Amino acid sequence: MTNITIRSSRPCDVLIEPGLLDRAGELLRPYTEAEKAAVVCGDIVYPLYAERAVRALERAGFRVCVKTIPHGEEHKTLASYGDLLSFLCARDFDRRDLVVALGGGVTGDLAGFAAATYRRGCAFAQIPTTLLAAVDASVGGKCAVDLPGGKNQAGCFYPPLAVLCDPDLFATLPASELRCAAAEIVKYGVLFDRAFFDSLYRKDLLPCAGEPVAACVGFKRSVVERDEFDRGERRLLNLGHSFGHAIERCSGYTLRHGEAVSIGLAMIARAAARRSLCSDATRDEIVSLLRFHALETECPFSVRELVESLARDKKREGDTLRLVVPREIGRCEILSVPFADAADWLRDGGAK
Ligand code: NAD
Repeated sequence: MTNITIRSSRPCDVLIEPGLLDRAGELLRPYTEAEKAAVVCGDIVYPLYAERAVRALERAGFRVCVKTIPHGEEHKTLASYGDLLSFLCARDFDRRDLVVALGGGVTGDLAGFAAATYRRGCAFAQIPTTLLAAVDASVGGKCAVDLPGGKNQAGCFYPPLAVLCDPDLFATLPASELRCAAAEIVKYGVLFDRAFFDSLYRKDLLPCAGEPVAACVGFKRSVVERDEFDRGERRLLNLGHSFGHAIERCSGYTLRHGEAVSIGLAMIARAAARRSLCSDATRDEIVSLLRFHALETECPFSVRELVESLARDKKREGDTLRLVVPREIGRCEILSVPFADAADWLRDGGAK
């Protein structure tokens, strides 16, 4: 079993091995004296994996209840959050008791925020069921819900005690979800490691998912340990996201996050090459690896639409836009750009 410890303000062990779901109880027991455990999962994940999670936790002596939430980003809301807190309260959970997020990033973000704030913080663990949650959302302690004004606007940092990653669970994911995760995995290659980037020219990301997951968790760990609260280096992880978030918003969230990040990555690579911040060869390598994974790389929106969308981005700081640009594969840099230059960057990135 791969065990990666993230030394954040609350240490977090990420355990990776096929078959971990059925061992969830014995693996989580050392982290908590909880009597009760609440398994929180979406309504798609519930029939697939909830019963196995419940049985595994019961075998380790937990009294288990299950809270299902409707799937989809549109349910990562204050209403779902309040509902989950009331659920825990009605079952008389105390601070030692355990909340287990069994699902993708939506479930993890929502359950994490509820666990962080229920009685000022109860025990929390994650069992990611999407590849995206395994390589990104379940690691690093960020949790949040969306507000009508934007994504992830109410949240906090609350690392889980442990993340149990069972790559067998990704077998039921639709191809579109795997593609979205591929965009984030390519991002890690561009940010941190040429050899890892080259290793992603394989169509079988799924059967070998344990390997890329461990690599990505390792990359994210090193950044989180140096900048847990996102004040500097952690912002590198926004590579492809500044334009990606704008694209996602322009699409009215019909484009998935990973699809938008892929386009955002290709755009920033084009804009960087145009300004001689990276070579044309680096740009072409990034775009072709994204295309190899059947990801879109062309922006369907106009410069005007994107600038309006960027203006609403919570990551924008006053009149400055922070852009993460590739310098070469494995090395990127954070640039502060006047917001007035956004249109030029977007045009250089290929927006109409
Ligand atoms: P998701 O949680 O919405 O899951 C995608 C879909 O897959 C859902 O319909 C879900 O029901 C379904 N699903 C989940 N597991 C399945 C399985 N094993 N088999 C079949 N279907 C399955 O989306 P996601 O891509 O996992 O996560 C996106 C969310 O994560 C966003 O809300 C984003 O803001 C958040 N996020 C958070 C962080 C962080 O650091 N906290 C990082 C990145 C993304």
